[in-house]
Amino acid sequence: MEIVILAVVIALVAVGLISGLVVSSRKKKQLPPSAPSSTPTLTPPAEPRVGEEAETPRDEARRPIEEVGLPGAGTPVEEEPVVLEPETPALEVPEPTAGRLVRLRARLARSQNSLGKGLLALLSRDNLDEDTWEEIEDTLLTADVGVAPTQELVERLRERVRVLGTRTPEELRALLREELVALLGPDFDREVKTEGGAETPGVVMVVGVNGTGKTTTTGKLARVLVADGRSVVLGAADTFRAAAADQLQTWGERVGARTVRGPEGGDPASIAFDAVKEGIAEGADVVLIDTAGRLHTKTGLMDELGKVKRVVEKHGPLDEVLLVLDATTGQNGLVQARVFAEVVDITGIVLTKLDGTAKGGIVIAVQRELGVPVKLIGLGEGPDDLAPFEPGAFVDALIGD
Ligand code: GDP
Repeated sequence: MEIVILAVVIALVAVGLISGLVVSSRKKKQLPPSAPSSTPTLTPPAEPRVGEEAETPRDEARRPIEEVGLPGAGTPVEEEPVVLEPETPALEVPEPTAGRLVRLRARLARSQNSLGKGLLALLSRDNLDEDTWEEIEDTLLTADVGVAPTQELVERLRERVRVLGTRTPEELRALLREELVALLGPDFDREVKTEGGAETPGVVMVVGVNGTGKTTTTGKLARVLVADGRSVVLGAADTFRAAAADQLQTWGERVGARTVRGPEGGDPASIAFDAVKEGIAEGADVVLIDTAGRLHTKTGLMDELGKVKRVVEKHGPLDEVLLVLDATTGQNGLVQARVFAEVVDITGIVLTKLDGTAKGGIVIAVQRELGVPVKLIGLGEGPDDLAPFEPGAFVDALIGD
């Protein structure tokens, strides 16, 4: 009996234990998923959803992209990366300015020979009668020397030949040389001023009618200055002629001078202002400003050049205003000179294309007209075909020595 009771008790305890375990395990399974839990649980990665990529923050670290060879494409060739170097054209070394006129003398002599040689031949005649003196006058007038200077020269020659009595060719050459040099104003200061101020660069404004060689001269002048060891900034204020800024920039790049330019048809004064500003910022020695020379109306020209000059002078004084004249245009050049002189204070003249005309006498006429010296002459289209004007060398080229 006792054994039976013990067996029943054991059986009841066993049943109780088993049912208790089953209930506890059921309770665990029924815990709501959101139930707070003090220990962090690891959740398996969620399935990707549509648009998920867009939610990824832009600055989140990305998986690196691995290059893999495509089957059948062969071994991938490792290509050298192409590095585009900024274009830096080799800088040119312009010719020194000293002695340029001597180098270019042949060119001058070729074009002006008829004047010098013609005068010498006439003066060498045995009989210097009125007709001969008239011929001498005509020769000078044809070479564009101008009426008043021609009469002065003939007067002086007549006087000196009379005093001289008999004349040898050497004496005649020396006489003519002296008188021509005197007529060219040997005492004029022909230096192109580029000193500037203590804090500001020298500023040169180049003016003249389009087509006279203004932009070319500005470029050549930059080379002259670079040859003399100065640093230059160019201002492309000729915004009227479409290609002028490109042309000037090309000149500048050849000698390492920066060009300040603006939009085509833009305000020349603001470009001129910016060019000087750039010159100051760079610590450049000289700023050259190429301007547009439209002779549309005198008032228009005056307004434009006047404004350019005024804004440039806000930075400091202007050192030079160079007027470019085309020697082949003869009397027309004188008319232009007059108009420009009325609108702006010209400090020097550049006479271009003297290689293409026999009318070198324009040098004398234009100096007389404006009372300012010819400082430079253009003797060709080559980059170094601009020379400082020297009366003695000029006359030697005319009459030979
Ligand atoms: P701009 O319109 O006044 O700026 O004139 P450019 O500078 O464009 O020059 C007009 C033309 O004259 C160009 O073909 C130049 O090469 C030419 N030129 C300029 N100076 C001289 C010179 O001294 N001699 C010769 N033969 N041609 C020149």
